[in-house]
Amino acid sequence: MLRSTSIARTLLMSIAAPGGIVSAMRQTFQAPPAQKQLPTAQLLRHAFLLAEANNVQDYRSQILSTFGTVVKMDSTKKVVKLSGQGRGSAEWFTSIGNEYSQIVTFVLTCEESAQKLLPMCRGVMDRFRLANQPVPKILYIDRGCCRAKGPTALETMFQEWFDGGMVVCLDIFHWIHRFDAAIRTDAHSKYAMFKSALAGAVLAYNRTDLELLIEAVRAKDPDTFRSVSEQDVVRLYVTRDQLQHHVRMVTLGAQQTFRLIHLAIEELKGPAGLDQSGVSLFKTPAAIDEMWVAQQRHLECIQDPPGMIMYRVARTTTIHGPHCAARPYQVYLISGIARWNCDRSSDAVFGGKGRHHRTYSAPLIHRLNTRCQQLFGETVEENFRAPAEVDSNELLGLEYLFSQSTGESGPFSLEDIIYDVQMRR
Ligand SMILES: [Zn+2]
Repeated sequence: MLRSTSIARTLLMSIAAPGGIVSAMRQTFQAPPAQKQLPTAQLLRHAFLLAEANNVQDYRSQILSTFGTVVKMDSTKKVVKLSGQGRGSAEWFTSIGNEYSQIVTFVLTCEESAQKLLPMCRGVMDRFRLANQPVPKILYIDRGCCRAKGPTALETMFQEWFDGGMVVCLDIFHWIHRFDAAIRTDAHSKYAMFKSALAGAVLAYNRTDLELLIEAVRAKDPDTFRSVSEQDVVRLYVTRDQLQHHVRMVTLGAQQTFRLIHLAIEELKGPAGLDQSGVSLFKTPAAIDEMWVAQQRHLECIQDPPGMIMYRVARTTTIHGPHCAARPYQVYLISGIARWNCDRSSDAVFGGKGRHHRTYSAPLIHRLNTRCQQLFGETVEENFRAPAEVDSNELLGLEYLFSQSTGESGPFSLEDIIYDVQMRR
């Protein structure tokens, strides 16, 4: 700031130099107006909120146009305290994501029970059917995968999809995470080794995908790469991102996984599991044995269904909203998730090149695409899919919680959001 002020003064000095035409005409200069105060962070946040409240309808239809072939349901305990008119506090955040890590739906509930989640499941299944989307092939879940007898709660919740042939798998990373309960501390020097042994016992890179990637790297410079071994191509010329993006993971099979985990645990129970001070990684040998015995029954639940190799490491996100009233919170949530989904569709093409423009307004892109198609015969965003025109009455986020606690149903009216904003002054 001071630098540009100084430049302006220097310029004025040079034209006002004695003997010049400006000084001969006795021109006087006015001091520049005083510098304005920058708006506060709070004011900028309010402006953002009011602007986003106008976009909520677009964001909602974008989220309700998100589908998937491989879906994953996740529940996390998250206490959301709502100030102002918040008619309660949410305890659980449950979402369904797809293979691109996009969020298909998300709700807040006061407890985590099949009963409370039933309307969400029905809404999503209705949406898929109305939009003529095929039933997802796999549903990954974090608990409740197998029961001794009778239909599981999940089968009841997703009846229509089960009837359509969907299979349920236990989420591998969630399963691996369970072993942490038998670990002394995750700061132990052998912890990372144990976790990667577990992951390596369950998953491997898909051979065919890997060969294609190696072939593609070699094709760039056939002469140089002719003499480089496959291992070295992967080790030296393939980035982590490329591996993650282009190569799917496959499960090794229950028997192989059993054998490898058994070996790793037995080994780490001995001297290999001690840190420099001689402290063992496991709480006690009995603790890890007990955990391992309990988790063995899920060895089949974490395997890829026959003929499907679809496991990709999905990204997760946490959307932080400031501690605030219900309606602003809902706006932050919906706009954050719509933006997240949009960015994931950019990421679906390697290097984030799925989209050319960084705009989150679906109607704007749709209009531009339609007009450019008519006028010039090509679209501006070829990977953009217009929102599905599905008449969905699904409730998202806090609306869901409130409809359960008050019996009122329907999306929030955001008309009066300005008062929520002013209330916090
Ligand atoms: Zn299971």
